[in-house]
Amino acid sequence: MLSAEAQSPLAIPHGAMSPASQRYSPHDIPAETFRQMGYELVDQLADFLAKLRDKPVAPADTPRSIRTLIEGDLALPLEGADPGAILAEATRLMLSHSTLNGHPRFFGYITSSAAPLGALADLLAAAVNPNVGAWALSPVATEIERQTVRWIAELLGFPNNCGGLLVSGGNMANAVCAFAALRAQAPWSLREKGMTGDGSSPLALYGSSETHTWLDKFADLSGLGTDAIRRVAMDDEGRIRPSALRIAIEADQRAGVRPCMVIGTAGTVSTGVVDPLREINSICKELGVWFHVDGAYGAPAAALADASDDLRALSWADSLAVDPHKWMYAPLEAGCVLVREAANLHKAFSHHPPYYRFDGDTDDPPLNYYEWGPQNSRGFRALKVWLGLRHAGREGVQRMISDDIDLARSLYEHVKSHPELEPLTTNLSITTFRYVPADLRADRGSPDVGKYIDELNERLLAQLQIGGEVYLSNAIVGGRFALRACIVNFRTTERDIGAVPAIVAKEGKAIDVRIRPAGIAGL
Ligand SMILES: *Cc1c(COP(=O)(O)O)cnc(C)c1O
Repeated sequence: MLSAEAQSPLAIPHGAMSPASQRYSPHDIPAETFRQMGYELVDQLADFLAKLRDKPVAPADTPRSIRTLIEGDLALPLEGADPGAILAEATRLMLSHSTLNGHPRFFGYITSSAAPLGALADLLAAAVNPNVGAWALSPVATEIERQTVRWIAELLGFPNNCGGLLVSGGNMANAVCAFAALRAQAPWSLREKGMTGDGSSPLALYGSSETHTWLDKFADLSGLGTDAIRRVAMDDEGRIRPSALRIAIEADQRAGVRPCMVIGTAGTVSTGVVDPLREINSICKELGVWFHVDGAYGAPAAALADASDDLRALSWADSLAVDPHKWMYAPLEAGCVLVREAANLHKAFSHHPPYYRFDGDTDDPPLNYYEWGPQNSRGFRALKVWLGLRHAGREGVQRMISDDIDLARSLYEHVKSHPELEPLTTNLSITTFRYVPADLRADRGSPDVGKYIDELNERLLAQLQIGGEVYLSNAIVGGRFALRACIVNFRTTERDIGAVPAIVAKEGKAIDVRIRPAGIAGL
C-alpha cells in the first residue's frame, strides 16, 4: 500500500515546516513511498528474471497492437498521476511486451543477456546521479570509471595507461576513436580549418564492405563524406586482404591523398571473422597510418588463453572500441573508447569554456571527462561495468566467453548432423546456417532453387522471431540468405543449443509445404 501523500500528486508533505518551506513538487516523493515502490518493483524483477526461461523469447505484438495498448496517440495528460500506479503499469507493460534478450534462447544480433547486478548498479547510479563530466561533480564515480577503463584495457591486452572513457555504444566508441585519429593525422589544424583543411590533401579511411555502418555514419557526420572510405578487397571468408590494403594506401599516397586510418574488425557483425590484424598493423606502422580496431563485438575474446594471433594483435592498435553491453554482459548502454596515446584523445576533445573552473590542484589534477569525449554532462555508465568485472573476476569473464564460443561450435555440429540444415560458418560465438529441404539439397546450387531457398529462409526467420521459441537473426553468406545465431548469453546451456535444429527444421518444413512453387523440383 502506498501512503496517503503518494495518492495525490498535489499533497504537500506534512511536518513542522513553515509555509515558506513548502512548495508543490510532485517529483519529491516521500521516502516511505519510494521504499514501497522499490520493494515491489524489485520483487517483480526477481521473479521475472527467475522465470525468463518459461516466457516466449519475443511477444507476438505489432506496432499497432502496442500503440493501442499504451494509447500512444493520447496527448500529455494535464494532471499528474499516482507514481505507484504508473510504475506498476510500466512494469506490467515492460514485462509482457518486450523482446527478451535475457532469455536463454535469445541469439539475435549481438545483444547479450544483461547481468542483473548491472540493473541494480543503474538504479544506484540514477539515485545518486553523479555528473561524470567533471571530477568535482562525481568524485568517486570518476575514479571508478577510470579504473573500469584500465581494467577493460588490461583484460583485452591493451596498454592500461591508454586514454579512454565510456560512451553509449559501439557506434559512438568507434566514432570517438576515429575523430581522435583524424585529429592526430590531419597535417593541418583540423579544429580551425575543418575536414577539408586547405584542400591540398583529402583524408582517406580504409575498411572493407564488412566494416560496420558506424563508419558510414562517421564519414557523413564528420563532414568527411562517404567518398573518403576505401573498401578494401576481402578473401572468401570476408577478411581484409593485406596486399590489397597496401596497394590502396600507396595509390592514395601517390595521388596526394592523406591515408588517415585503417579499420580492422575483431569479430565482424555478420559472421564474426577477425581481420588479419597482425599484418594490418605492420602495414599501418610502415606507412604511417593510424590503426584502429573495431572490437565492439569480438575484442573480449582476446582475453582468452587460446586467443588467435590476430585477436591478440589488437594490442598494437592506436585505438580500440569495445562494447561492454555486448560480450561483457552489461545492460545497455555501454561502449568503451581506448586510445593508445591518451594525449591524442585529449587533443581531440578538450575545450576550455570560461564558465568551467574544474582544473583543481596541479599536484593532484582531477580527471574531467568532458575533456576526453563529445559529451558534456555524463551519466555513470561505468558502475554497472565495474561491478560486473568485479563480480565475475577475470576468470569468470573468460569462462563465460569461452563457453559462449563452445556453444556456437556445438550448434554448428548439431546443424551439420541434421539432414535438412546446412551449416555455413562458425567464428567466435556466431554460427550461420540455413534450412534446405532434403529433396532440394542436391540441386541447391541451381539459380531457381537457390533463390527459393533464400526466400524460404527469409520467411522462416520471420516466423521464428514471432514464434517465441528461439530468436535468431540473419546474415548474407556468400550471397545467400543465412540464419544466424550469436551466443553472447550466459544463460544459454547445451540443452538450449541442442533444441535449435529441431525447432528450425519443424518451422522450415511447415513453410516449405505452404509456399513452394510448382516449378521447384522435389516433394
Ligand atoms: C555492434 C557493433 C557495432 C555498433 O555497436 P553499437 O553498440 O550497436 O552502437 C560496431 N561494430 C561492430 C563490429 C559491432 O558488432
